[in-house]
Amino acid sequence: RLFNEIQDLKGNIRVYCRIRPFLSGKKEKESIVEHIGENELVVANPSKEGKDTLRSFKFNRVFGHDTTQAEVYSDIQTLIRSVLDGYNVCIFAYGQTGSGKTYTMTGPNGATSETIGVNYRALNDLFRISSSRESFVEYEIGVQMVEIYNEQGLAVPDASLFPVKTPPDVVKLMDIGLKNRAIAATSMNERSSRSHSVISIHVHGKDLKTGSTMDGNLHLIDLAGSERVDRSEVTGDRLKEAQHINKSLAALGDVIFALSQKSPHVPYRNSKLTQLLQTSLGGQAKTLMFVQINSDVSSYSETLSTLKFAERVS
Ligand code: ADP
Ligand code: MG
Repeated sequence: RLFNEIQDLKGNIRVYCRIRPFLSGKKEKESIVEHIGENELVVANPSKEGKDTLRSFKFNRVFGHDTTQAEVYSDIQTLIRSVLDGYNVCIFAYGQTGSGKTYTMTGPNGATSETIGVNYRALNDLFRISSSRESFVEYEIGVQMVEIYNEQGLAVPDASLFPVKTPPDVVKLMDIGLKNRAIAATSMNERSSRSHSVISIHVHGKDLKTGSTMDGNLHLIDLAGSERVDRSEVTGDRLKEAQHINKSLAALGDVIFALSQKSPHVPYRNSKLTQLLQTSLGGQAKTLMFVQINSDVSSYSETLSTLKFAERVS
């Protein structure tokens, strides 16, 4: 059967942890995270009282600081390709601001073919494979970009449900999205760390011989920064933003947790993001969470809370 290629018998939720390398020119120097094998890492508590306290975490994969973008992609390629067989796939990047979420999903500013992220690699792959099947399947691919800020979902203007034919179309589309994001914000980095960015790729395929059709969706989500905001330090809009972010990340965690427990009740309605993704989370859908961490001692408490979040959903 053409649209039926089940390669994932391990379950539908995977959690991959990626450790961001230290950046030159920054003051980071003391790593408290040790990467010990394909799927395990250990975090050391740097406080005086907690000295020598180690905590181990296991995930489906742990990528060390020297893992390349190509290596990360090669690990998720089958998952992405399954969209062309009618699966729904969600890929999230979770972590504090500065931990590498955007690097993993989009790539760095001025990315090269080596450093481009999952989003472009995924689209290129979808186009390449769909055209290699063109003698027996006719595919239509559409892309939509949505930014969720303060629990409001805004379709990125000019970039909503855009039919795309070639990879350059997609690059153009993503540039439009980024520009709009930049115009809307005083500082793009500031704003982007407080909104969830969702790129949805819809694939419709028609088997030319039998006429049967299938639909698959790939959602690529660069989440708002997960850092805890000190309530004593922020007020007004900033506090409201922080509360919306906490609420929506907690709601996402609850949904994935309920799915991982095969719970009969999945609380999709508690946030805009989970409502938007409802039909692509659960059931036959596949979910991958990149959990991004910064291994420097200064990020210890954020790293620990990020890893605990990830542990709960894995
Ligand atoms: P976030 O989106 O989580 O706020 P970014 O993706 O913007 O974080 O990463 C912060 C900085 O670290 C950026 O300058 C980015 O290019 C760099 N960076 C992140 N991950 C890596 C990596 N794996 N290799 C090299 N540089 C990275
Ligand atoms: Mg970012």
